[in-house]
Amino acid sequence: MIRIKNEKQIDGIRASCKALARLYRALVPLVREGVSTADLDDFCVDFIRKAGGKPAWYAEHFPGAACISINEEVIHGIPSKNRIIHNGDLVSLDIGIDLDGYISDSAITVPVGTVENKLLRLLDTTRECLDAGIGACRAGNRIGDISRAVYDTATKAGYGVVYEYCGHGVGLGVHEDPQIPNVPERGPNPRIVPGMVLAIEPMINLGTGDVDVLSDGWTVVTSDKKPSCHMEHTVAVFADHTEVLTMLNPGEE
Ligand code: MG
Repeated sequence: MIRIKNEKQIDGIRASCKALARLYRALVPLVREGVSTADLDDFCVDFIRKAGGKPAWYAEHFPGAACISINEEVIHGIPSKNRIIHNGDLVSLDIGIDLDGYISDSAITVPVGTVENKLLRLLDTTRECLDAGIGACRAGNRIGDISRAVYDTATKAGYGVVYEYCGHGVGLGVHEDPQIPNVPERGPNPRIVPGMVLAIEPMINLGTGDVDVLSDGWTVVTSDKKPSCHMEHTVAVFADHTEVLTMLNPGEE
């Protein structure tokens, strides 16, 4: 069942999303060589508490406020004081905030220090995939139009698209209907209507789109161990436009 949000609910979700955007603004400069992923997670926990919220992933029993996935890790990397960030790493952060029961969700991949050009291109294309997906997310289109936009952008550049994990409805729960695959699929293809709040999240790989889960039960890695990028925004659909909620507009604090 797709939960259509009313104006008051969207206002609440927007507040949660803006808090998350402010967290990223503070966090991204801390993603540096020599820092542990637990250090970054501690910063997130502290920031979210001070903002009056709770880390949204706790409700999913994930052992962290932030999923932090490095290089061949795609998503759901567990923060650890033993996991140190190195020069040249691609660090993917995926964070959600529960603010007064309203859930935000967004992800970014940060290049650390001097990163190979082929990885910077992967990063650029993943951002283009997210932009294309958001561009296709309009009232009157279908969810499959988002999938098609992401998939075509990635495959034209020669990259693999993760098909076992996907975007989703969000806002009142962490994972709501509909699923938003990054690969066009048969099956349910709902119409996009005003009041939908969606997390669009391409996961794009340098090599194959195939993935495996490590023995920790969480960390998803590429099957060929080549690097992966992940970018995500939460958006709200209105009759005449789609608003990216997890972003600070110019002049917005
Ligand atoms: Mg998500």
